[in-house]
Amino acid sequence: MDTHNLNVDPMVLAAYAMKAFNQTHGLAYAQISQDLTIRQASPNFAQFVDLYQLPAGNLLTDILPTFVGLEKTLQDILDGISPSYLLEYVAYDLLDGTVGYLNIQVTPIDDDNPGYGLLLLIEDVSRVGRLQQTIVQERNELSLTQYRLEKAHKRQQQLNRQKSLFMSIIAHDLRGPLSGIQGYAALTKAYTKDERLLRYSTNIISQINLLNDMIGDLHDLDRIEENKIALEIGLDNINDIVLEVTKAVATDIEKKKQTLHVDIPTESLEIQADTSRIWRIVYNLLNNAIKYTLKGGVIDLHVSKASDDTILIKVTDNGIGMTEDEVDHLFDLYYRADNVQQTGATGSGLGLYIVKGLVEAHNGRIEVVSKPQKGSTFSAYLPILA
Ligand code: ADP
Repeated sequence: MDTHNLNVDPMVLAAYAMKAFNQTHGLAYAQISQDLTIRQASPNFAQFVDLYQLPAGNLLTDILPTFVGLEKTLQDILDGISPSYLLEYVAYDLLDGTVGYLNIQVTPIDDDNPGYGLLLLIEDVSRVGRLQQTIVQERNELSLTQYRLEKAHKRQQQLNRQKSLFMSIIAHDLRGPLSGIQGYAALTKAYTKDERLLRYSTNIISQINLLNDMIGDLHDLDRIEENKIALEIGLDNINDIVLEVTKAVATDIEKKKQTLHVDIPTESLEIQADTSRIWRIVYNLLNNAIKYTLKGGVIDLHVSKASDDTILIKVTDNGIGMTEDEVDHLFDLYYRADNVQQTGATGSGLGLYIVKGLVEAHNGRIEVVSKPQKGSTFSAYLPILA
């Protein structure tokens, strides 16, 4: 066994241990005399101050220019006026071109006799310093991103307002000429004895009604998006509204040779609601049931009291139905499922978005159950009292 190491001088061993400790912990120290020259320094001190020799005998401010202008502060410690001084995260250039960070602390060597000299401790905190630098940088980038987002949001709001204005102008401007055409069609219908003209004018009137509905949709769509739909609440008989809608869809039902079962209570069901909006809810649901059910299919329209204070309007069809995934997106704006290819029905993907918006504006809720190739059921629950 090699016993060579056992003969090493304990002082040399202690010096090695100190050096190793200093290196692993990134610590260095120096003793400073009263005249602010360096009395003695640890062997690794030079590496922190970029010197090749030990700095003993030099003025502290020459070796560490950070202390230029701090002479009075150091003197105060020597005079026992202040207890210590700490400089944090002092940046210094490393040989590899990166930046290192030091914490430098100055305290009296002997607290009871501060005039004896100062102890200067240097701690390499580059790792923490760099982390802090990264955090500051990332925080700055975050603030910048947040600022950009806010700006984009403001721009979006501005565009929305412009769009709203545009929509209401369009809606307003379209209604004028449409009512003119409708008037002439009504006159033709009233005065003609010609069968064909009578049919044409009836068709023109029903198409104009449809266009008026679409303009209403555009108007509502905008309000729903802005979350400021203004309901015109009145007391109405839900049976009457529902029957009105069934008349409006009668031609479409006939064209597709479908059957519509209407199941409404015999007693009148009063509801405090916006009649035209309830009309639209029922119309959109029935219209979809017709569009997405094949020829000869069956549609059920059911109205009842779901509870003391809620009315249920339920539309069931045995049409093409939807997958679970399609149901999940059903009420999204402009959403049209792949199933539309099965019937070729045209649409804009606005109808159900509007239905949901109007139901919720009445503080109600809408539920859907659907199965591909089996059919769908839409249930709208509306409070009786607004
Ligand atoms: P659209 O103008 O396309 O009819 P909607 O918002 O009314 O728009 O409906 C969105 C989509 O939901 C439709 O395109 C269709 O894919 C599906 N859908 C709606 N109602 C039904 C239904 N009763 N049966 C099957 N699919 C339906």
